[in-house]
Amino acid sequence: MQQESLSLLAFQKKFRTEKACQKHLFQLRWPQGYRCPRCQHDQAYFHRTRHLYACKACGYQTSLTAGTIFHKTRTSLRKWFWMIFLMGRQKSGASMLSLQRILEIRTYKTVWVMGHKIRQAMAQRDVSYQLAGLIELDDTYVGGPKPGKRGRGAAGKSKVVVAVETPGDKPRFAAMRQVARVSGDEIMAMAQACLAAGVVARTDGWQAYRVLNSESSFHAPTVTGSGKNAGMSQIKVGTNLIILCLDNLSLTNYNQVNEFVKILPIN
Ligand SMILES: [Zn+2]
Repeated sequence: MQQESLSLLAFQKKFRTEKACQKHLFQLRWPQGYRCPRCQHDQAYFHRTRHLYACKACGYQTSLTAGTIFHKTRTSLRKWFWMIFLMGRQKSGASMLSLQRILEIRTYKTVWVMGHKIRQAMAQRDVSYQLAGLIELDDTYVGGPKPGKRGRGAAGKSKVVVAVETPGDKPRFAAMRQVARVSGDEIMAMAQACLAAGVVARTDGWQAYRVLNSESSFHAPTVTGSGKNAGMSQIKVGTNLIILCLDNLSLTNYNQVNEFVKILPIN
């Protein structure tokens, strides 16, 4: 589900009926048309009442919702889609009670289970998303009773490395990782978890970032300066913006900051 960019009205229009939601799921699941999950055959009988696709070659039955968070649900896809849409918009965490009311979901238990599944799926998406293309890398300190302090040496705060995807110098997606210290090993671990192969990384030239040079799957980072804090020039719009945002928030621990980065609208 990638509906983050749709306005409320566009969303309402696109997913007006249950059929429209099913069509969307079909296109997500089989962008090139139906394919049997077992034998790859491209023809199926559709059981209208049971919403099942039965392969014409091997008879294997599958549904649009198999393997998704909607599997065997008795709640309409429209309500599910609305809930995902609304949960994705509410930065401070959506109230299940209010969602239950506005989506007319029968019981609190149902809405709670839906919310739980959606949150898990969103977390999974965040985990699997990799920054690509041109990125910037920088490190800072976050959390603690006072707003985060710049530089490598603030005590009592969480050290983090921030990576920001900056196509055309405009920040788009951000990833953040807590590190014990800004070392080559930590930078490489972050790169392997959060960065797609072949990214071009811009850093401030701190020695730990040079580890990216030695890894064949990464392009050599473009160094924008040399030594500590040397690269804080106008070229680093992305990470500076994120860190500026973090500095101005009264977030007291790493988890809070991390949650914020995940939902940070930086477009
Ligand atoms: Zn088949």
